[in-house]
Amino acid sequence: MHTTRPSSPRSEDPLWFTGSEQTHRVAQAIAQYGPIARTTLSRLLDLSQGAVSRITSDLLYARVVEEMDRPDDAAHAGKLPETFVDRSRSSQRGRPQTALRLRAGQRSFVGINIHGTDVSVIATDALCRPISPCITAALPSTDPREIAARIGDLVRDTAGRLEPRPVSAGICLGGHVQGHRNVTYAPFLHWDRPLDFASLLEAECGLPCSVFNDLDSLLQYEAWFGDGVGIARFAVLTIGVGVGYSLLDQGRPVDYPDKSYGLAGHILVDPEGPRCYMGHAGCSQCLTTDSLAGEYSSLIGRASTFEEFAAAAQSGNAQARQLVNKLCFRLGVLTATIANLAMVSTILICGESSYLARMNTESIRSGINWFRHSQSSAVNFDIVDFSWELWAKNAAARAIIRYIG
Ligand SMILES: [Zn+2]
Repeated sequence: MHTTRPSSPRSEDPLWFTGSEQTHRVAQAIAQYGPIARTTLSRLLDLSQGAVSRITSDLLYARVVEEMDRPDDAAHAGKLPETFVDRSRSSQRGRPQTALRLRAGQRSFVGINIHGTDVSVIATDALCRPISPCITAALPSTDPREIAARIGDLVRDTAGRLEPRPVSAGICLGGHVQGHRNVTYAPFLHWDRPLDFASLLEAECGLPCSVFNDLDSLLQYEAWFGDGVGIARFAVLTIGVGVGYSLLDQGRPVDYPDKSYGLAGHILVDPEGPRCYMGHAGCSQCLTTDSLAGEYSSLIGRASTFEEFAAAAQSGNAQARQLVNKLCFRLGVLTATIANLAMVSTILICGESSYLARMNTESIRSGINWFRHSQSSAVNFDIVDFSWELWAKNAAARAIIRYIG
């Protein structure tokens, strides 16, 4: 339990407004798809125009949303679900309507990502746009209390003087989290017993705090504010020190008790690939930075680091480029496997070393095609630019989503 301080917040999650389930659905849709006209909202959510009108009046009165002009201007139109045909836009051409958008600057949030031996902290508005620089600092140790104290200092540095004052903080890390508060397993921090991390953080930060898995947070950020807006089901695949995978369906990460245990870590991608520490030949571990360093060392005949390999590839070194081509093909094979089994049409590729995938998207496409039926639809893949700022924003997105309700 957190210690009681005069400024200590209550543990319950704060909400922007209280209203019916429909009111929350409308606010969510305005956050994701706004600026959006009322007629589009009514078709999208299958609500009568009268109901949308009443609900949006309430949201306007509560200062959650605001009206803006020129919604038909393409530059201002929000992205809509891929399967949704918005007849109202074409049938009412020439009759401009006002559109609604979130009053994003009315609230601020803090996003915190623990990665490896560091932590990154950022403040955002209610549309998850940064309103502070992202600060990254080393963790003092793996002790939860020391980590919480360090995060408390960083939150004060980041958001101490912000106006409006942050309403809550989201924290994401690699591990298993229950009830947005208890971390039950976090291998990078060597935590393997249930720990009420949210309460420790609340005592140090003076803000309501919620804790989330980092991959699920990336999925939800993308679904609300990023490249996944409007896509009903998509997967995210990360490459870097390890291989990560998570799946989102109908706006929510698919829940599965074993998902923190590296489900995509040892899937066959190349029968001629290097052996992993478990003895598999060519499993998806060959996409990791350590494995790439080993394979590059064998190619050039001396010990090399991942950084040396990446720099050689970027400067056009032939052997390094050859390994990048293999990496991209293998990434394509794993992408096809995920698309085939999870039945997704879009996969986002992210992670510390995903920038290498940009060097040969043609090989990714070849790897995908090798394991897809010639008549099947194309698999879309997007390479998401990696930064620790993005991962801190992912954590803020979770706090925002809970706040909108
Ligand atoms: Zn393996």
